[in-house]
Amino acid sequence: MSEVYNWQLGRKMDYPHEEAHPEWQFAFVFNINRCIACQTCTMACKSTWTFSKGQEHMWWNNVESKPYGGYPQNWDSKLLNMLEKENPGKQVWDARNQGKEKPFGEFKGKTIFEAANSSQSIDGPRRALGYLPTDDEWTAPNIHEETATGETMKRGEWSHSAELPEHRVWFFYLQRICNHCTYPGCLAACPRNAIYKRPEDGVVLIDQERCRGYRKCVEACPYKKAMYRPTTRISEKCIACFPRLEGKDALLTPDGAPLETRCMTACVGKIRLQGLIKKNPDGKWADVPDNPLHFLIRDRQVALPLYPQFGTEPNGYYIPPRWVPRPYLVQMFGPGVEKAIEQYSCPDRELLAVLQLFRASQQVIFQYKIEKGPKVAEVEVTLPSGKKKTQEIFNDTVLGFNKIGKEFIRITIEEPTFERPKQHVNSI
Ligand code: SF4
Ligand code: SF4
Repeated sequence: MSEVYNWQLGRKMDYPHEEAHPEWQFAFVFNINRCIACQTCTMACKSTWTFSKGQEHMWWNNVESKPYGGYPQNWDSKLLNMLEKENPGKQVWDARNQGKEKPFGEFKGKTIFEAANSSQSIDGPRRALGYLPTDDEWTAPNIHEETATGETMKRGEWSHSAELPEHRVWFFYLQRICNHCTYPGCLAACPRNAIYKRPEDGVVLIDQERCRGYRKCVEACPYKKAMYRPTTRISEKCIACFPRLEGKDALLTPDGAPLETRCMTACVGKIRLQGLIKKNPDGKWADVPDNPLHFLIRDRQVALPLYPQFGTEPNGYYIPPRWVPRPYLVQMFGPGVEKAIEQYSCPDRELLAVLQLFRASQQVIFQYKIEKGPKVAEVEVTLPSGKKKTQEIFNDTVLGFNKIGKEFIRITIEEPTFERPKQHVNSI
């Protein structure tokens, strides 16, 4: 094992390979609050990459209902239980000492790599704690859709069930693709070294020639996003639509600027924003405050990693749902939940402008600028903490630029409305 730095945990951790980082890192932010579970993203991915024989139960993108559902079923609660068994009562955060490279404090428990040190599988020592789901567990990508099984209600409290800050009967949708992790569990566990991380964009791929279908990646990926194909007897996973990322679609991007993936661009709810994060050779994020992902994830911490305690440093980030009981969210996204929801509940001028960039174009946004506009409204907002705040809304214009510095987005905060002339063709 080597020692590598994981900023999401705020500490060094054990990992089976030496530290090595790409120049750019594929990353994304999903705003859970806006998802309508239409599954357009799921079908966009399926119709592009997994429509063939042997891929019937393979959903590289899925949207599941929490807390009960999951694809494969109970993937997260199973692994959380395994970690708890390895390190009883000690899977905890110490959020006291925070800093730039440890914004959530420090995770004191064991990651999947550290917990594997004491664990054996039937064929030798494990490199990462994990399990192989059964065939049945893979059969439904969104089992128990919209079942509000999350419940913190006492008898006789039905009338309060849909009031903020926390609903007492609740569920939410969790949108999931491969996180193209900084320290991937799949890559760590592969005995054939068939999995690699591309130095140009951090995309994690399985070499289809080298893979022999041992399914160690399926076992070790904590998010269960490496999948086995029985017809070819090798494993497959999300490839981050890398031809689009490389700007190879001459029709959509004649100047070769990177495009977002199919699942991102198809999103009806406008919940998805994908980007490429500039990395320094030591793995730290380069200081690029006018990159929208940098702003949401590192500057403001409005978007949080999914189960950071697993230790793979996932590159998918989520704006947590406002109405869900906090202990559940803290277990899922770490100690940054309250701060993220507080900011999202009453976004300031810059945050409101950046939130307009979600699904504004198919191209990847590398830089944004805000042109200031007049004040158009004042709204009284009750924050989750119960405090009142006046939100001032300005009709600013937000601009987006692609990799070669070309402006391709210009949106105002106020959505323009147009009045049809009286004598319109459909007028009565
Ligand atoms: S999410 Fe899973 S499959 Fe994707 S890179 Fe991370 S460990 Fe590998
Ligand atoms: S397309 Fe967007 S809104 Fe629809 S399910 Fe997917 S993530 Fe949610």
